[in-house]
Amino acid sequence: MRVEAKPIEATKLLKKVMSDHFYELDEASRTKSKKIAWCTSVGPAELLRGMGFLVYFPENHGAMLGASRMATELIPYANQLGYSPDICSYLTSDIGSYLAKKTPLQKSYNIEAPPRPDVLVFNTNQCRDVKDWFSFYGREFDVPVIGVFTHRSLGKIQDFHIKDVAEQIKALIPILEEVSGQRFDMDRFKEVVALSKKTSELWRACLETASHIPSPWTFFDATIHMGPAVVGRGTKEANEYYEVLLKELKERAKEGIPGVPEERHRVYWEGMPIWGKLRSLSELFSSLKTCVVASTYCNSWIFDQLDPEEPFESMALAYTELFIVRDEDYKESYIQNMYEFFRFNGIIFHDAKTCPNNSNNRYGMPERLSKRLNIPCLVINGDLNDLRCFSEEQAKTNIEAFVEQLEEV
Ligand code: SF4
Repeated sequence: MRVEAKPIEATKLLKKVMSDHFYELDEASRTKSKKIAWCTSVGPAELLRGMGFLVYFPENHGAMLGASRMATELIPYANQLGYSPDICSYLTSDIGSYLAKKTPLQKSYNIEAPPRPDVLVFNTNQCRDVKDWFSFYGREFDVPVIGVFTHRSLGKIQDFHIKDVAEQIKALIPILEEVSGQRFDMDRFKEVVALSKKTSELWRACLETASHIPSPWTFFDATIHMGPAVVGRGTKEANEYYEVLLKELKERAKEGIPGVPEERHRVYWEGMPIWGKLRSLSELFSSLKTCVVASTYCNSWIFDQLDPEEPFESMALAYTELFIVRDEDYKESYIQNMYEFFRFNGIIFHDAKTCPNNSNNRYGMPERLSKRLNIPCLVINGDLNDLRCFSEEQAKTNIEAFVEQLEEV
């Protein structure tokens, strides 16, 4: 009989942190007691919080639509409006959710709908889809859509890249002042940047506990526990949560309590999670005694370049140095560093049909990395939210064969 992993205790507190986040937004939306900004997941959240906005992240809602498996049914509503099934399925499922008036917030929190935005703020560092996505809501709610256009496919980051993005962030302030009715306060902004830096440091430390053998948790656990790093960075609540989680993970590592009992193999996950299949994939890897120890995805919410003494420039740097913004050479070196730190013996690339931005297998990277690191790589076809693009049987067969290959290495 298979031994089950010991559950992570902090999960109870996680549920509270996440529900408080949604209740606060819902209350503000219903009573109009606070202004609400929608922000892309790697957008300028610190500035928004520093200017007194509550911040809502539609990509987090997208992930909830995927994890609850509501996405596949809702995507066609957006397709009918002309949003192609081939573009971001966070976008199509979120717009579909709005059109069909169905959201996982109803079942999870008894909240009727996502909060109404007063302003929508994007950063194109990850993709163009976020601007198109927010523009839909800008038209629906008749509110401003503003943002930052980041240079992409960068190797070495130059001063002019950072100066440009920093100036673009500063240029958002007059519009945000107009929406919020409050003057920009530098001291308050710096406080949020300092808190956000702390969130990143704690989140990094949590992820790094997976370098222990056996790892105290898995990528699948981390995708759930990253919630506060996404929606709460720059808040005391997120930092308090990660203090608790980090303590528990360190204890698990010290006592040898594994994320995958009898861990035999360690692999890296490159690409988006398949939200609707987290549980079954987690169980499959666990049954194969294989721990997915690290991922580019969970690492993407580490912004420890933030510096309260240089808030604009350091935000520009943190949001430009991201993996997704970089060229292939940088990405391959990054994964090599991960390999040396986490000591995995294989890499799984998820080719997400509707997110080319987070699918790094399409220009020969698995082949080059396999040769460079002398470890096997596997490509799985699927999608973040649209389960019509994912064949569970096919993936299972491929993963089992891949693990057999690891046995031989
Ligand atoms: S990076 Fe991919 S998943 Fe994220 S918003 Fe853009 S297209 Fe969608």
